Amino acid sequence: MNRKIPELVCPAGNLPALKMAIDHGADTVYLGLKDATNARNFAGLNFDRKSAAEGIMYAQQRGRKVLMTINTYAQAGEVKKWQQTVDTAAELGVNAVILADLGLLAYARKTHPQLALHMSVQGSATNYEAINLAQELFGIRRVVLPRVLTLPQVEQVIKHTSVEIEVFGFGSLCVMVEGRCLLSSYVTGESPNTFGVCSPARYVRWEQYPTGMDARLNNILIDRYGADEPVGYPTLCKGRFQVNKETYYALEEPTSLNVLEVLPQLLAMGVAAIKVEGRQRSPAYTAQVTKVLRQALDLAVRCPAEFEVNPLWQQALAKVSEGQQVTLGAYNRPWK
Ligand code: SF4
Repeated sequence: MNRKIPELVCPAGNLPALKMAIDHGADTVYLGLKDATNARNFAGLNFDRKSAAEGIMYAQQRGRKVLMTINTYAQAGEVKKWQQTVDTAAELGVNAVILADLGLLAYARKTHPQLALHMSVQGSATNYEAINLAQELFGIRRVVLPRVLTLPQVEQVIKHTSVEIEVFGFGSLCVMVEGRCLLSSYVTGESPNTFGVCSPARYVRWEQYPTGMDARLNNILIDRYGADEPVGYPTLCKGRFQVNKETYYALEEPTSLNVLEVLPQLLAMGVAAIKVEGRQRSPAYTAQVTKVLRQALDLAVRCPAEFEVNPLWQQALAKVSEGQQVTLGAYNRPWK
């Protein structure tokens, strides 16, 4: 049975979050630049060259790794911009780049043969044939699995590839087949794969009323919150809509993935890395989630047979979960 210790890979939306992740036990952090080459292209987030260099130094001096996320698709007429970001990552000395675009993977492989390549979750590689082909063509070292597979399916993939497998361990969920969501482009003309954001901030509008708050995206009502309700960021898939005179989360209820319960299984099947979602969240979120996942992973590695989920971990994670609720997502589909 494989007992490799998986890397804990944590989000760095900015320099303070990067430092929080490192200080609270992340083995690896992932970050992106302040442009459309990264799928968390929100105003006020991300890194310029100077802060990226500082973050990389901070992590690497402490023996940790930094991955640069270039996980959107190069747009027609602008391919150079995406290629230059790969060049920048190589110059900065990141430990690997996370790419989705096949043309960009080919460019990185040819131009920077020494640069380690990870296939992004946005690359939608959900089976070992696709993963092995990417290894053959581009020499990918790791793939981030889309959050659509059951635990036995993850195990099946691991058994049939030598590419390292990274899985999501905590964070907000999308209903999409990862890398293929165009939902926000129907309302704003922009989507995660093109402009790097789902629900671009400039289209978001909040309207406060005595009775609560409306959240709109490009003037379309996405949700109406009561005065005491916690308010979420308006994404189309997580809005409450009226269908047959009933108003409810017609597509998806906001909820977070949380794999604490199945950590020993993930370890036993040999996942190479556990990833925390959330570069758009605060440094405090990063600190909290990293701390809990670090403790849980260490315990699961040390004594897998006696591993039990500490209720304090669950309480801490529930506070930072989207919609204040958690799920095992696709990992657990008992009807399959
Ligand atoms: S609309 Fe929803 S499913 Fe699509 S990318 Fe945005 S959050 Fe994910």
